[in-house]
Amino acid sequence: MPPLTGNPNLHATKDFIEGLVGHCLCGSVNVTINDPDLFTRRRGHLCHCANCRKVSGSFAASNLIIEQDKIQIEDRDSTLAMFLDTETGSGIPIERWFCSRCGNPIKSVTPTLEGKVVMKMGLFPRIPAPEFETFGLHRHEWQGYHPGVEVYKIKAFGEKV
Ligand SMILES: [Zn+2]
Ligand SMILES: [Zn+2]
Repeated sequence: MPPLTGNPNLHATKDFIEGLVGHCLCGSVNVTINDPDLFTRRRGHLCHCANCRKVSGSFAASNLIIEQDKIQIEDRDSTLAMFLDTETGSGIPIERWFCSRCGNPIKSVTPTLEGKVVMKMGLFPRIPAPEFETFGLHRHEWQGYHPGVEVYKIKAFGEKV
């Protein structure tokens, strides 16, 4: 297991060209993202929707929508579990996967994103610079804005704030 450090600056982005590896708090669920362009351009997004906030335990979630076949998940102790979230804004149920031992969110799966998953980026030692924010209307007023990050009122690529 990598050292217990939350300092992303100790992990050079070039170390992740062969795969960005992260694990849940207890170490049972290990995730690798195989994508050489994770850090060559802005990737992923911050979401301020109510459900993302609950799942992340924070004022926003750091998410990356990515092709299923670029993700490898090793469930060492068979702790990976799923909660079917039916209370979504769209009414379309979303599978929310997490580690049932330590509670760490892992990924979300929605039928609206065919062949893709939404990775919960808090798992990883270094998070790519986000490309945009969703549910910008639900931002808290004390939050700052990130230069270069597009903020959409609700959905990605919809109306901007
Ligand atoms: Zn765990
Ligand atoms: Zn959300």
